[in-house]
Amino acid sequence: MVIHTYGHSRTYEMEALLKLFRPAEKFTFSEAEAVPAGEEYLSAGLTPEQDGTLLLTGAVRIGGETRSDTKILPGQVQNSDLDREISGLLYPLLCGLTGMRPAWGMLTGIRPVNLLRKFAARTGSVAQAMADFRDIWHVTDEKTQLAADILAVQQPILQAAPKNSVSIYLSVPFCPTRCKYCSFVSNSVSQMKKLIPDYYKCIAAEIGLVGRLTEEYGLPVDTVYIGGGTPTSIDLYQPLDWLCTNFVTGQPVREFTVEAGRPDTITRENLSYLRQFGVTRISVNPQSFQDAVLKAAGRPHTAQDAEDKFLLARDMGFDNINMDFIAGLPCDTVQGFRESIDRALRLDPESITVHCLALKKAADFYQSLPMPEPAAVSEMVAYAQETLTAAGYRPYYLYRQKNMAANLENVGYAKPGFESAYNVMMMDDSQTILGIGAGASTKVIGGQRGIERLTECKYPYDYLARFDALMQQKEEQLRALLSC
Ligand code: SF4
Repeated sequence: MVIHTYGHSRTYEMEALLKLFRPAEKFTFSEAEAVPAGEEYLSAGLTPEQDGTLLLTGAVRIGGETRSDTKILPGQVQNSDLDREISGLLYPLLCGLTGMRPAWGMLTGIRPVNLLRKFAARTGSVAQAMADFRDIWHVTDEKTQLAADILAVQQPILQAAPKNSVSIYLSVPFCPTRCKYCSFVSNSVSQMKKLIPDYYKCIAAEIGLVGRLTEEYGLPVDTVYIGGGTPTSIDLYQPLDWLCTNFVTGQPVREFTVEAGRPDTITRENLSYLRQFGVTRISVNPQSFQDAVLKAAGRPHTAQDAEDKFLLARDMGFDNINMDFIAGLPCDTVQGFRESIDRALRLDPESITVHCLALKKAADFYQSLPMPEPAAVSEMVAYAQETLTAAGYRPYYLYRQKNMAANLENVGYAKPGFESAYNVMMMDDSQTILGIGAGASTKVIGGQRGIERLTECKYPYDYLARFDALMQQKEEQLRALLSC
C-alpha cells in the first residue's frame, strides 16, 4: 500500500495509523501531485485556500473501492494538531473500507494512560478526558474505562514518591536459553559465559558511579529493580550486595524487585540470597500453564515446574510474587489460556501481568505454527480482565507495543497494595530512572526538554569493550542533567 502525502510531511503519523489496520505490511511512500494510479493507497494533502485557510483532503483506496473526505483548517496549524486532524479524517475512511474498529481507536502511542492523564489535566476533569478518548480518538468504552481505572489506581502510588527521588534499574541481559518469541536483548548464558566475570566488574563500577552521584546530588532512592533477561540465570549474590550497599541499606526504599522470571533458573539457593538482601518483590513467570504451548515457545520448563517454583518461593517467605502470562502464543487456545489464568488464581499470587504477543519478533515461528486468531486473543485478554478483577485484582499499569497481537495491550493486575511502584513510576515518565548495565536505559526527568534519555549500549560485547568511555560520558551527561 502507498502512503501518499502532499503539502505536508506527517508521513510517520500516517504510517502509524495505517499499521493499526495493516500491522504486518511494508508500505511505500509517494509525494507526487496525484494519488498513485491503480494501487491501494492512504492519502492526505494540504492545500492553501484563497481566504487563508487550509484545505485538508484525505482519501483511502482499498480493494478497488475509494473513499474520501475534506476539512477546512485554520491557516496556521501546529504539527500535533495537524496529526490529529489527518488521523481524524482518515480513520473513519479506513474503518469503513476495512470493517475494522481498533479497540484503542486511532491512538497510536504506547502509553494511553499517560495521555488520559494529560487530557484530564488540560480539560480539568477525568470525565471530559474520557469523553475525548471516546468521541475524538474513537477508543472503545471498555478501553476508555480500563485506562480511567488504571489512572485512579496509580494516583496514590505516584503521589507517594519522595520529591526528587530516583529509581535504579540493573540490567542482567542473560538467559539460560532464548525463548523463540523473545523481543529483548538477551543472550544465552552458555554462549556468553566467558563475558560474565567482566560483566560483574563493570556493573560493580557502574553501581559505584551511580551510587556516588545519587549521594552527591541528594537523590533519594525510591525503588530498585533487577530485570533482564533473566537475572537469576547468573549468581546474583555480589550484584545484590553492591546494590544494597549503594542504594538500599539505610534508605527508605519502598520496593526492591528481582525478576526471577524463568522457572528453570529458580533455586532454593538463589531465592535465599534474595531473602537475605531484603528483596521485597519477585516475578515467577509461567507465561502459560499449557505444556504444549511452553514447548512451542522454546521454554524448557513445564507448567508443573513453574508451579513448584512459585510454591518454593512462597514457602521461603516471599509475600509479593508476580506471575507473567502471554496471550496469543502459538498452539494456545482460548480454553487453554483460560485454564492458565484459572490455575494462576488458585496459586494466589499478589500480581499477574498479562502480555500480548508482539508479532514482529515472533515472525520466525508464527509462520510455521498455529497462531490464535486476533479475535481469540481479544477473548483471552477479556477473560483475564474479567476473571482477575472479579477475584479482587485491579489493573494498575498498561502499555502497548508496536505489532501486538490483535493490536491490544499489556496490563499489570495486582491486589490492592501490591502494585509495583517501579512499573508505575517508569511508565508515567515522572521519575528519573538510572539504568545500569548493558541494555539498561537511563532517563532523567527535568532539564530543558522535560525528559532526557541517555544513549545506551544494548549489547554486552559493546558495553564491555567501550566501558571506560561509556562511563566517562555517562558521568558527564548525568552531572550536566542533574545540575539543572
Ligand atoms: S526469558 Fe524473557 S528475556 Fe529471556 S529469552 Fe525468554 S523471553 Fe527473552
